[in-house]
Amino acid sequence: MSSVGSDDPGFVHRLLDKVPGMVGYWDRELRNRYANAAYIDWFGVTPDAIRGQHIRQVIGERLFALNEHAMRAALAGVPQLFEREIVDPQGVTRRSQARYIPDVREEQVVGFFVLVTDVTDLRNAQDGLEAAQAVLEQQVTERTAELERTNAALRETQRRLELANEQLEARVAARTAELTALNHQLNTVLSQLAAAQRITHVGSWSFSTSSGEVQWSEELFRVFGLAEGGIAPRLPEQVGLYLPDSWARLNAALDRSLRTGEGYELELDVVRPSGEVRRAVARGEVLKDDQGVVFEVFGTLQDVSELAQARQARDEAAERARLATSAVQMGVWDWDVRANRLVWDSAMYALYGLDSATSVNEFEAWRASLHPDDRASAEAAVNAALAGQSRFDTAFRVVHPGGAVRFIRGTARVQHSADGAPLRMIGVNWDETKQRQTELRLRANETLLQQFVLHAPAAIAMLDRDLCYLQASNRWIRDFKLTAEDPIGRCHYDVFPDIPERWKRSYERVLLGAVEGCAEDPFPRAAGGTEWLQWEAHPWRQSDGSIGGLILFTQVITDRKELELLLISQKAELERSNRDLEQFAYVASHDLQEPLRAVAGCAQLLKHNYAALLDNEADELITHIVDGGSRMRTLIDDLLKYSRVGSHVTPLGRVNSGTAVQNALANLNVALSEASATVHVGDLPIVSADAVQLTQLFQNLISNALKYRGSSAPHIDISARSREDDWLFSVKDNGIGIQPQYFERIFVLFQRLHSRTDYPGTGIGLALCRRIVERHAGKIWVESSLGNGAEFFFSLPKQY
Ligand code: ADP
Repeated sequence: MSSVGSDDPGFVHRLLDKVPGMVGYWDRELRNRYANAAYIDWFGVTPDAIRGQHIRQVIGERLFALNEHAMRAALAGVPQLFEREIVDPQGVTRRSQARYIPDVREEQVVGFFVLVTDVTDLRNAQDGLEAAQAVLEQQVTERTAELERTNAALRETQRRLELANEQLEARVAARTAELTALNHQLNTVLSQLAAAQRITHVGSWSFSTSSGEVQWSEELFRVFGLAEGGIAPRLPEQVGLYLPDSWARLNAALDRSLRTGEGYELELDVVRPSGEVRRAVARGEVLKDDQGVVFEVFGTLQDVSELAQARQARDEAAERARLATSAVQMGVWDWDVRANRLVWDSAMYALYGLDSATSVNEFEAWRASLHPDDRASAEAAVNAALAGQSRFDTAFRVVHPGGAVRFIRGTARVQHSADGAPLRMIGVNWDETKQRQTELRLRANETLLQQFVLHAPAAIAMLDRDLCYLQASNRWIRDFKLTAEDPIGRCHYDVFPDIPERWKRSYERVLLGAVEGCAEDPFPRAAGGTEWLQWEAHPWRQSDGSIGGLILFTQVITDRKELELLLISQKAELERSNRDLEQFAYVASHDLQEPLRAVAGCAQLLKHNYAALLDNEADELITHIVDGGSRMRTLIDDLLKYSRVGSHVTPLGRVNSGTAVQNALANLNVALSEASATVHVGDLPIVSADAVQLTQLFQNLISNALKYRGSSAPHIDISARSREDDWLFSVKDNGIGIQPQYFERIFVLFQRLHSRTDYPGTGIGLALCRRIVERHAGKIWVESSLGNGAEFFFSLPKQY
């Protein structure tokens, strides 16, 4: 079988021939044993020509010399690798890499392999690569350098940036701190502003003219007494926050500011919801844009109520002070003792009635003005003060040039030198004339009062707070029979040990300021009997207004009181006996009727049955008995009527007086027509009366008008007119009339002006009329003159 590959002995040669590069083998003697095709080609020999040839012949002397050392080394067993530039047979310089590999057999180097590879391309490529790499490296270096530069620049920039950053941060921090501080300041200022607003009661506000929006500070809500933190009312809604007049003025000021751009300041009255009115000062300013158009109004409102009050109080105090000083008219003087120069202020000249323009030497002026009687004491006072003996405080009189005398008081202070010599004296003078006059007047009043009390025709005593006598009038001493002891200085209760307890209580109240008294007060005396006193107790006050004690005014009214008591008992007695008499009159007249009726009846029978049997004288006697009996009946009837007015009363009721008149006229119908009388009755009122008695009243008056008629036919006029409190009735006739001196008398019981033969009657009629009218709380009277008729008037009260 044919062998292929390593089994083929020619294979290695064929393989080595294919190897790019030269492969040879040299033995120890440097004789060639093998060379591949490329080796043979390179040296331009044939394989046979080379085999066994010494290397020197093959490669030439130059190369041999060049490589001998390596050859020897390889034969010594050391592999060699090196490169050489060689010129190829074509004359081209090539770079080859040679390898000498020792061939060791049984630890003996028997030769060495030579492997030569053309590495020109490789090296070229390598060189290119290296060059490229160098360029690259250069570039890299440059780039690196550049990068480093850039980097450095960057680092620099970064450093700067960092620096800048640091600075920036520092500045930012500083700025932040500044801002924080500013913010803090702002907050402080804002809270201070709020506090300031609160403390000064100044509220602030702004008003945008475009939106109409209003902003208020917290304090403004407080000024208006509104809940804080609310929404500020718009301008038209603020109308109720001010008094009407203030509101009008505020609006006028706002209008003006909007028109003119000027600010305003006003005092306004603000009304709080509670109704409390506060005084406030309103200030406003306007803000304008570039075109000069107002876009905002802002301002403040300050509650100045307390301020206004304080201002008023201050003004009043200043006014008081001014009044006080001007009232006192205090003059100030300053005397330089060593230079003997005296200086007066203008008030001094006024005090001394002098003219400052004409005065030359004030000291002389002072001396000259002194009242002669006071000159010595005033000068002595000055000298004593100069000598340091006393304070200068003295009073003296001065005489004005016109002669007027004024009381002057002066006080002064003296300045002394270290050695005690007087240097200067400064003092004040003021006019005390008024006080002195008042004092004198008071003293005079006091004396007058003392004298007055002492000699007053009344019992007066003045006691102090302990009720000790300060003063007692003579009358007091006499009335209370105190002549034996002088009461002055003694206690009232010692002088009168029998004072009733109730008076002591009264005195206590008077000492507290009350005024007490009694018009009639019994004072049972310890010695027996009772004094009656009319008394009054008043507190008296001291100059400071406090109560100093009491003044007693008394009048012993025992005599009067006893008389009064006597009168009262007598009156009661009279009334009682009057009642008894009335009762008696009534009973008597009532009881007399019965036997009278018997006597009159018997007389009538006697006259009727026995007239023919008796003689003329007996007839006449019988006629007398009958007449007497009938008169007596009339008298008794009238008396009965009279006594009934008081004893048989019916309560008053509403009575038509016209009806009463008509009833009376009906009762008198026969008599009226017999006499051909005419009667005119006017409008008569409804009155409060006893109907029967009112009829009786009219009947008596009308029958008298008929009875006392004159020669002509009687005419009677009955009328009434209203007065303020009563009705005034009138019954008027045209009869014989009455003389004025009898106007009173005719109303008295049994009083008549005529004899029974002229006009029959009992004299009871008008007395009865008066009794009826008086029972109705009215009055009755007559107006008349003889021959001219009579007009009887009576009044009846409207309210009874
Ligand atoms: P009487 O008529 O019974 O006498 P009166 O008391 O009625 O009693 O009158 C008293 C007196 O008043 C009468 O007596 C008479 O003189 C006088 N008098 C009364 N009424 C009139 C009268 N209308 N005109 C004149 N005199 C009168």
